[in-house]
Amino acid sequence: MAGAFWCVVEDDRQGQPKKVTAELIGEAGRWAPDLGGAVEALWLTDRAAPEGLDQLAAWGASRIWLWEDAALAPYRGETWVPAIADLAAHEKPRAIWGAVTSRHRELVARLAARLGAGVAADCVAFSLADGQLVATRPVYAGKLLSRVRWTTGPWIATLRPNVFKAATAETHRTPTVERRSAAVAPVTRFVERREEAQTGLPELTEAEIVVSGGRGLKGPENFALLEELAGVIGAAVGASRAAVDAGWKPHRFQIGQTGRTISPKLYIGCGISGAIQHLAGMRTSKVICAVNKDADAPIFKIADFGLVGDLFEVVPLLTEEFRKLKR
Ligand SMILES: Cc1cc2nc3c(=O)[nH]c(=O)nc-3n(C[C@H](O)[C@H](O)[C@H](O)COP(=O)(O)OP(=O)(O)OC[C@H]3O[C@@H](n4cnc5c(N)ncnc54)[C@H](O)[C@@H]3O)c2cc1C
Repeated sequence: MAGAFWCVVEDDRQGQPKKVTAELIGEAGRWAPDLGGAVEALWLTDRAAPEGLDQLAAWGASRIWLWEDAALAPYRGETWVPAIADLAAHEKPRAIWGAVTSRHRELVARLAARLGAGVAADCVAFSLADGQLVATRPVYAGKLLSRVRWTTGPWIATLRPNVFKAATAETHRTPTVERRSAAVAPVTRFVERREEAQTGLPELTEAEIVVSGGRGLKGPENFALLEELAGVIGAAVGASRAAVDAGWKPHRFQIGQTGRTISPKLYIGCGISGAIQHLAGMRTSKVICAVNKDADAPIFKIADFGLVGDLFEVVPLLTEEFRKLKR
């Protein structure tokens, strides 16, 4: 439908949309009615479970554009972008939104180049001025917030996970699914997929609580302390670049300017100094706690709660206290 707000589905690669998709749909639903458009979902996948389609409808997607094709997984820009761009040329959506995830970041950039439109990346809020949407996004490693608007449509943006209110599910809605086929002619060939062992902990960008470790952990084996705490409070584990560069954790754990951007309800940084590049990836967390033995560590300047102490003493005590509370 012309003027629609399109939300690209971020899924778990098992046929289910992720929570961040509910946030995209929820936020689109705040603006679409005033701007005269519907909220629609775009799902490119090798597998869309029927319950996944029901879920999207329940969240409020009035129509689901579905490309279901084995060749669409794993994500490759050259297969996804033409599919969406061709449909956009025909349907003239008002907005196309993705999440701040690795693949959506790349997707929207390529899509914008293709459509000759601009991208507001990493948005944390929207407002309305003169019938136009205005996006708020952090700049200078999160030191300032800038407000931007698009000079041409569609309004392409990525939205930071855990910032926007997720749509509430209303199960009486039934999905309207428009199946599309993509002319898939990849220029890269998929060679091998290696699945990581499941840790049982939530995914970093989706988690409501994140426990993060830095150089103060002294070695990779000591991440076990954080994993134990994370297991008790249902948190994901993250790391600073110093820890990643030392080879203690793979890069996908890195939080910051050159790593992941997170906005959990609670961030607990242990043995992390709080360099500006690290803050760039976590300063929009709702509550920030820091454990550091140096009372002058910069992280205490932005922390809501600070604990000056040795993490090797403090973290096991915290884990024990949380265990007791849960019991
Ligand atoms: C272009 C660029 C991009 C970058 N991108 C990123 C990025 O994406 N993410 C990122 O994190 N960094 C990034 N960095 C690096 C950043 O500048 C810092 O070097 C890095 O964040 C430091 O990591 P850290 O806090 O773990 O280590 P350190 O700065 O060495 O801090 C370790 C802290 O641990 C504390 N400590 C030590 N022992 C204990 C203990 N027993 N108990 C409690 N506390 C203890 C110390 O007091 C200290 O504050 C980037 C840098 C550049 C130049």
